[in-house]
Amino acid sequence: MTKPNPFEIAQKQLDDCAKILMLDSDVHEILRHPMRELHVSIPVRMDDGRTHVFQGFRVQYNDARGPTKGGIRFHPEETIDTVRALAAWMTWKCSLLDLPLGGGKGGVVCNPKELSVGELERLSRAYIDRVWQFIGPDKDIPAPDVYTNSQIMAWMLDEYSKIAGKNIFGCITGKPVCIGGSCGREDATARGGMYTIREAAKESNIDLKKATVAIQGYGNVGCNAAVLCRELFGSKVVAVSDSKGGVYNKDGLNLENVCVYKAETASVVNSPHTQPISNEELLELDVDILIAAALENVITKDNASKIKAKMLAELANGPTTPEADAILYNNGVHVIPDFLCNAGGVTVSYFEMVQNISMYCWSLEEVYERLDSKMSYAYHTVLDASKAYNINMRQAAYVVAVGRVVEAMRLRGWV
Ligand code: NAD
Repeated sequence: MTKPNPFEIAQKQLDDCAKILMLDSDVHEILRHPMRELHVSIPVRMDDGRTHVFQGFRVQYNDARGPTKGGIRFHPEETIDTVRALAAWMTWKCSLLDLPLGGGKGGVVCNPKELSVGELERLSRAYIDRVWQFIGPDKDIPAPDVYTNSQIMAWMLDEYSKIAGKNIFGCITGKPVCIGGSCGREDATARGGMYTIREAAKESNIDLKKATVAIQGYGNVGCNAAVLCRELFGSKVVAVSDSKGGVYNKDGLNLENVCVYKAETASVVNSPHTQPISNEELLELDVDILIAAALENVITKDNASKIKAKMLAELANGPTTPEADAILYNNGVHVIPDFLCNAGGVTVSYFEMVQNISMYCWSLEEVYERLDSKMSYAYHTVLDASKAYNINMRQAAYVVAVGRVVEAMRLRGWV
């Protein structure tokens, strides 16, 4: 089966929104395409003395509301269409959270698992050498994404600062805290999602203290989400999974044991006092809250009608196909769409920029409080739009986000 093209999905979602907003065709056409994209060849000296040329991209989708912002992915299957789609989604995400930013994304086709630390550092610096003219605190601000981390951001910050001839901490986010990173960035995506789940539970009449939760994906986001569901709400996480399969315990999983087991064996599968469960079965469990925290396109027209959860929180990017969306809506599943649910990461990244620019560090409590306020407000804005237009939560999120970008383009005289 051929994989769906993520950029075609992003364009289709925008097309649906354009109909609801009755956008003029010229405005719609501008929004269907990235405003700028950069394709670069990146020569890197490998440990054996040869030079390998990597391919890389940086897409700046729309900057009507402010400088573009978005992560850099290092992935062997990276494609320009994935980067375009993610840059479009970043545009809508930043707008939805009412951040003064546009959307961008970057990527390098490489397998970081096959690179030595030295090769990874040289590749990270060489990427900046190729794109530095196009990025910066008031142009485009990269951040970590799939297979890039705070160490890589530190090398990139250093390379950019060397070229600029001075420290420019606000040129990149997701840095280690001791060189301008923000407190609270590590679990910001999961935590931001929790604030939307808390608000959505009120709407769906779910008592979070008694709620059961299943989580697909047990990486950075899924693992933090599991712990926070228990710590913030007292909810019971009954199932989690990773790429090799899942585990279930109807009385609630011992999350510490599952984490230790995963650290030892690289998977949650077969951790003690659990029953095995497949990823498909996990999605169909009779739980209150289903959290998607793994991959794209896992909820499709084939399984959407089997989902029994009252709420689907999309911490992953793009877990639900457009056909599945309609089925979930008709079945009354309350969906917190991805670019709302997982916006905590970029929101704290924005806080990091603000702290860098003002040369001031916020406490963890300040970060949590501001994150809660931003996420809760965005959730209620989307909920209100969904009720006002009688549309599903994803369409409502698009209506709010795209509407704001269009307004900015009009005010600036672009359309
Ligand atoms: P990660 O690589 O740390 O974890 C991904 C998890 O998904 C792993 O446990 C992996 O085993 C699991 N997985 C992979 N294939 C699977 C499959 N077929 N079935 C079930 N599980 C599978 O990645 P992450 O940073 O936790 O990101 C997870 C999702 O959240 C992605 O969609 C990412 O784009 C999105 N996201 C992450 C952030 C962030 O701050 N990390 C921000 C926004 C969105």
